[in-house]
Amino acid sequence: MREEPLCAVRDLKKHYPITRGWLRREVGQVRAIDGVSFEVARGEALGIVGESGSGKTTAAHAVLGLEEPTAGKVRFDGTPVSERSGEALTEFRRRTQLIVQDPNDALDPRMTIGEAVAEPLRIHWLDDADRRRAIVADILERVGLSADDADRYPHEFSGGEKQRISVARALVVNPDLIVADGPTSALDARVRSEILALLDRIRREFDIAVLFISHDLDVVRRFCDRVAVMYLGEIVERGHTADVLNRPAHPYTRVLLSSVPSLDPTDRRLGRPLTDTVPEPSDPPSGCRFHPRCPAVIPPADLSVGDETWRAIARFRFAVQADELPAEAVPTARRDGGAHRDDEVTPATVRRAVGLSAELSDAAAERAVEEAAAAIAAGDVDAADETLAAAFPSVCEREAPEAVAIDSASAAVHDSESAADANPTATADAAGRTVRCLRYESTVEADPPDGSETGADAIDGSDDGSTER
Ligand code: SF4
Repeated sequence: MREEPLCAVRDLKKHYPITRGWLRREVGQVRAIDGVSFEVARGEALGIVGESGSGKTTAAHAVLGLEEPTAGKVRFDGTPVSERSGEALTEFRRRTQLIVQDPNDALDPRMTIGEAVAEPLRIHWLDDADRRRAIVADILERVGLSADDADRYPHEFSGGEKQRISVARALVVNPDLIVADGPTSALDARVRSEILALLDRIRREFDIAVLFISHDLDVVRRFCDRVAVMYLGEIVERGHTADVLNRPAHPYTRVLLSSVPSLDPTDRRLGRPLTDTVPEPSDPPSGCRFHPRCPAVIPPADLSVGDETWRAIARFRFAVQADELPAEAVPTARRDGGAHRDDEVTPATVRRAVGLSAELSDAAAERAVEEAAAAIAAGDVDAADETLAAAFPSVCEREAPEAVAIDSASAAVHDSESAADANPTATADAAGRTVRCLRYESTVEADPPDGSETGADAIDGSDDGSTER
């Protein structure tokens, strides 16, 4: 029988109201997380990655009970967090600890390190001051500091040492789950490796689960057993870290990986986003939320141009929508707020700037691109937006892909023969062509493939107790 996870998050939503006016009338909602599910097993390190605004920190705070969900449930050790009160809630707070990105936020400059590390003990159960002192001395040494450091103040320590103190503070109450929210983001590379090695050692030594929140895929690759990739409040891909990061299936994961400098920049399987603007969580795109940026967005069924041309058309369409046209395609009068007239921008200038200067083989597409370019040259971007939206619809903006399970990972799979073969729910579009982009969910049990390094194997920072002073 499968062991119950330490923490199980089901269909979690957190929406914040947007209010206006004296009466604070609700005019909309920021959908910070929108139907997220994941599990953390005992002793496991699960990474949640995504750009800022993806909802990963909100999800982490909901796990800790710091945010009340709009919908969905968080269960910890079998009991919904929302149903805990009194002693059960105090116990939950002891067993779940938070490490924040900036240790200065967690340390009171007027408290000695000993007082700061002992504080959770005092809050939770231990009144005996001598016993508290002994536990603090022991824990400081376990995180690579000295028992004598207990009498010093936070300003006497470096950033890396302060993060060690935060780890000691989390560890002192013997937790089962640590939520580490960007714990190495503010550190330089050497200290980052040391803190990762420390976290890895203590989680294995004490069998502690870690929910590791980060935007840094390289750090997640080195520390986490499994990873979930978030985009605009949704999990778009998940699986064993090696599976997801060595063979990313979702176009967004590929885009994230393409921004990691250590990876091969010539790897054409990785993508660049069509546009840089991350849509507002208060107004997420229809269908698949990634579609205005997705380099793999599915073309209209009746379009007959090659892949590269389609990508240029899609980039043009969504750059117009996001007001992200290259500067040379924008008439001066728009650039400088109407101070000057400019007639140097022509439809040909616009087409050259967006990589569509050659006449398209598809006559209808050619007409639409020419019409949109003429509208932009005339300063009417809204008309161009309407023309492109009408001429180049995508199934991706109409519907979110179906959720199905394939193999050992969970993602949107786009346009690959193997995915199409494995896809039990592939559907034909109006023209009878198979739409081969899916989003699917599964619980991943498979071992990482041989030769891929994740978790402790990949952590090269020595945690030998030496610290950076
Ligand atoms: S459904 Fe797939 S191909 Fe379409 S936009 Fe989303 S991730 Fe890209």
